Amino acid sequence: MTRRQCTGEYKIKPIKKKVREILGYPYPTRIPKDVFVEQWVGISTDEFHRAKDADVRYMRNRHPLIDMGWSRRDCIRYLTSIGLENTPKSSCLGCPFHGNSQWRNIRDTSPDEWQDVVEFDAAIRQGNARANANGNHLLGQAFLHRSRIPLSEAPIDHVTAAEWAARQAELTDAPNEQELEQGVVDGCSPWACRGSEPTVSQDDFGLAS
Ligand code: SF4
Repeated sequence: MTRRQCTGEYKIKPIKKKVREILGYPYPTRIPKDVFVEQWVGISTDEFHRAKDADVRYMRNRHPLIDMGWSRRDCIRYLTSIGLENTPKSSCLGCPFHGNSQWRNIRDTSPDEWQDVVEFDAAIRQGNARANANGNHLLGQAFLHRSRIPLSEAPIDHVTAAEWAARQAELTDAPNEQELEQGVVDGCSPWACRGSEPTVSQDDFGLAS
């Protein structure tokens, strides 16, 4: 996995911009100390370590699932009870943490989105265009699929026994067995990226405020 800046670029940056707009203090206007929004983030009790504060004073994170004492299982049970048992994990379309079942799901249910991720995969092969322009070339090539084969040809139909284990694990909270097939267990939210590696933050772009 290379250094990623997806969470910072695709989520945190636009959210902060929107929040500033809502509050009426567009960047770089200073926001008074007592002006803030409350942001609800869906972290469940079994991943409470992912619950974090926002890094700016004008946003205060709350974690209602933790306040209610709800685990992932409680959430699945509730969603099932209202007919939403197929609710997917929150994530970007072209997330490199997807497992085969997520790639198959995109390919088999949404041809346009599949085309989009295949093109995106091809576009990242030589790395970040801006970094290349600055002389920071990628050593090697980048791929979305962990096989390091172009997504259009990657072995996403390879179904192992892990798929069944994964389905069971969704119900039994035994996440590690399923990563190959299902991708990382966690969904992705702005202050709780699903990847275990640190992302590039707003500070790296001078946009923290
Ligand atoms: S889901 Fe999260 S880790 Fe995956 S590409 Fe999006 S921001 Fe990055």
